Amino acid sequence: MSESEATDPKVLLGHHLKKLKLPTILAEYDKIARQCAEQGIDHRRYLLRLAELELIERERKMVERRIRAAKFPASKSLDSFDFKALPDLNKVLVLELARCEFVIRRENIIALGPSGTGKTHLAIGLGLAVCQKGMTVGFVTAAGLVNQLAEARDEKRLMRLQTSLAKLQLLIIDELGYVPLSQTGAELLFEVISQRYERGAIIVTSNLAFEDWTSVFGSERLTGALLDRLTHHVHILEMNGDSYRLKQSKARRTKQSG
Ligand code: ADP
Ligand code: MG
Repeated sequence: MSESEATDPKVLLGHHLKKLKLPTILAEYDKIARQCAEQGIDHRRYLLRLAELELIERERKMVERRIRAAKFPASKSLDSFDFKALPDLNKVLVLELARCEFVIRRENIIALGPSGTGKTHLAIGLGLAVCQKGMTVGFVTAAGLVNQLAEARDEKRLMRLQTSLAKLQLLIIDELGYVPLSQTGAELLFEVISQRYERGAIIVTSNLAFEDWTSVFGSERLTGALLDRLTHHVHILEMNGDSYRLKQSKARRTKQSG
């Protein structure tokens, strides 16, 4: 009798499955073995069930990791997005974009509209859908990104940050236009966008119409070059409407007083 046959298989199997990094099979093999015996399921199908469980669990964990790494500022999804609040928004286009093919095609999305119209909500919702497809996403505000870049440059790790940003399959830059950028800030942001050109997808949200972007970037030449790259393969989402926040608090007040 070989050593492995003499010892209790449970102990050795546990050890091997751990070493092979198959925690779901380890946790489930006993229970599934009993189920398969009851249902008269053969060994191949037993093994298939276990392999499937391991795969499903692995994918679930990978998606969880992607969502954590994206650093979304809030947990929002497209399921909770009320399209009726924005009758002019192209719902068909949004749902098509939620299939995430724009990321594979390395296209961009620009969501434009005043404050409170759901731009950040929509950007997170799309980003979440992209994570759920197993792709890598990063969420930043324009001001936050510029700060990160400036800090990295001061600490001589700008290249490293640029490389990690360029590797993301989708970069979401929220709130472009809320704060005007310094000349260096504008140049650093331009570099990020230009490095992603046709290499990775970008979602930008802004409260400013394109003609006002010069006021953020300072230079007309830089804004022109940036818009040229950003809008080459782009889906524009016009989010013109009343502030959802304002509408909700008004509705609450009416309800309370009524
Ligand atoms: P913006 O980024 O355009 O300023 P937000 O996405 O931050 O707006 O929206 C403000 C708040 O209102 C958020 O809590 C968001 O979830 C909610 N909201 C905005 N628009 C909608 C909508 N159409 N459906 C559901 N919630 C919405
Ligand atoms: Mg916002």
